[in-house]
Amino acid sequence: MSVANFLKTKGNSVYSVREDASLREAILLLNTKNIGVVLVTTPDNMLTGILSERDIIRRALVQETGFRDESVSKTMTKKVKSVTRSASIDDVMTLMTNSRFRHVPIVEDGKIYGLISIGDVVKIKIAEAENEAAALREYIATG
Ligand code: AMP
Repeated sequence: MSVANFLKTKGNSVYSVREDASLREAILLLNTKNIGVVLVTTPDNMLTGILSERDIIRRALVQETGFRDESVSKTMTKKVKSVTRSASIDDVMTLMTNSRFRHVPIVEDGKIYGLISIGDVVKIKIAEAENEAAALREYIATG
């Protein structure tokens, strides 16, 4: 399956915060929406970073107090790896495995088209395996 096809069902909406938002705001969003990352954007909605719950844990370890009032840009990961809509789900899976993270934004020329999580990849793979098994059963039954 291609990322473009995945976007047709999941849609383009992504949770994000501005780079000058406080970490407190980002933590609130992560908690309210029950998600693992937020994308960080410039005022004109260009991707500038990604903030995962793991980044916040790391920050809390190096600085025990006061960090919640600092801007997200101090804690986020700045070098974001992304894919374009023409990538395949297998490309995304390989990127996640090799880079050891669970989220990949879909970006073209800085513009955000969506986000794919490891949960999405697992769901797609299970559906593909089930469809393949059903097709094989059908083939055997009618063969
Ligand atoms: P995750 O497993 O996605 O929660 O993220 C683990 C770590 O990788 C955190 O430091 C994230 O900021 C970072 N990270 C997550 N996704 C990406 C990405 N697509 N590109 C670069 N870093 C990322």
